[in-house]
Amino acid sequence: MKVMKFGGTSVGKPERMQDVANLITNDIESKIVVLSAVSGTTNSLIEISDFLAKGDRSSAKQKIDALEQQYKLFADELMSHPEANSPASKILNEHFEFLNIILKISYSEALSKDILAQGELLSTRLLSAYLSKKNIKHILLPAMEFMTIDGNEEPQIGNIKVKLSQLLKQHVGQSLFITQGFICRNSKGEVDNLKRGGSDYSASLIAAAVNATACEIWTDISGMHNNDPRLVKNTIPIDHLSFDEAAELAYFGAKILHPASIWPAQQYNIPVKLLNTMEPQARGTLISEDVSVKGVKAVAAKDGITAVNIRSSRMLLAYGFLRKVFEVFEKYRTPIDMITTSEVAVSVTIDNKTSLKNIVKELENFGTVSIDKDQAIVCIVGNEIAEDATTLQKVFNSLQNIDVRMVSYGGSAHNISVLVPSAQKQLVLQQLNSGLFGLS
Ligand code: ASP
Ligand code: MG
Repeated sequence: MKVMKFGGTSVGKPERMQDVANLITNDIESKIVVLSAVSGTTNSLIEISDFLAKGDRSSAKQKIDALEQQYKLFADELMSHPEANSPASKILNEHFEFLNIILKISYSEALSKDILAQGELLSTRLLSAYLSKKNIKHILLPAMEFMTIDGNEEPQIGNIKVKLSQLLKQHVGQSLFITQGFICRNSKGEVDNLKRGGSDYSASLIAAAVNATACEIWTDISGMHNNDPRLVKNTIPIDHLSFDEAAELAYFGAKILHPASIWPAQQYNIPVKLLNTMEPQARGTLISEDVSVKGVKAVAAKDGITAVNIRSSRMLLAYGFLRKVFEVFEKYRTPIDMITTSEVAVSVTIDNKTSLKNIVKELENFGTVSIDKDQAIVCIVGNEIAEDATTLQKVFNSLQNIDVRMVSYGGSAHNISVLVPSAQKQLVLQQLNSGLFGLS
């Protein structure tokens, strides 16, 4: 059994959804198909929820009506002009009636999760209606019945495994299952979600739970590229990445894959394939445990980084200083990405600025604190690159005119990270494209 996940743009237009129907019925292998919401829908639902949070019901209503209109056109085209009482129009009625009822209920966090869940519920039910119209046998599996997270918002893989296998056992002989990405049930039994972009995570968790032969992530680009195609000309798709390399790239900016979606696949050793709905024959990128291909694979960049610098003569020859510094970040649940130290100073980078003020205040007990905002981490990823001296040389050659703020090298064998001002990010990516890959 394999898992095939289709993102928002892959189901974003009626004809695209029809392409998906073709792709999932192309071969006889049993599969679980995981869908995102139609592109743009989750954003619209967030806007609706935000209007309700502010008590602006009329704007929320307007937005709901506009969305309903959009879905009516979508369903009409998908089902080629159905009559008023068709399955597709019933589906739309149900979900938009629900949104209209919500308008009358007082806002809560839990309610907003209910609103957000409508996107994936709609996309999967519409695909299911289309498949039924085409007489394609399939089962719609409600993600809410098996996808669960614990009190720390961590997926409960053991539980998912048990529940999913129970559900599948109820449908022996069936080979095509459709389910929602993104949505789940939390420890209080409420509707919840795996955060933005979480459908990839759903797919990987499901693949791990059923021990799938592969987890295919279908998007609108042919695999992961060696560099950011939105910022740099002449990028090339990468044939193969190890799980570690893919995790670094996904975390440090490659938007194609949700970073958390690597660990379930890695832990259960399920190959992940990044494929293109628009070009199904393209090779795409294979992510697996194979680490035989050495050398630099790709560069990626992550914006919005803040560097926090703590300078203290007390650090000189002292022990336990770093622990105290780290404890402050831990207290405010703020992950640190990069770190560099000298004998009297330590610099760390953070991505989540929510508690920056409090963090700085507490760090000032240990020394002088300074902040560099609007930085970008540029990350060079590959296999055993830290062992190859020429890579480092090429990296530094590509950075000659750049204000490098920090360098992290040797922490892992497959990553070199540099911190540069965000304003220079594009230039750095371009220069690395020629310096490391000979592409310009
Ligand atoms: N629909 C959700 C989002 O837009 C989940 C996903 O697409 O992965 O974030
Ligand atoms: Mg996505």
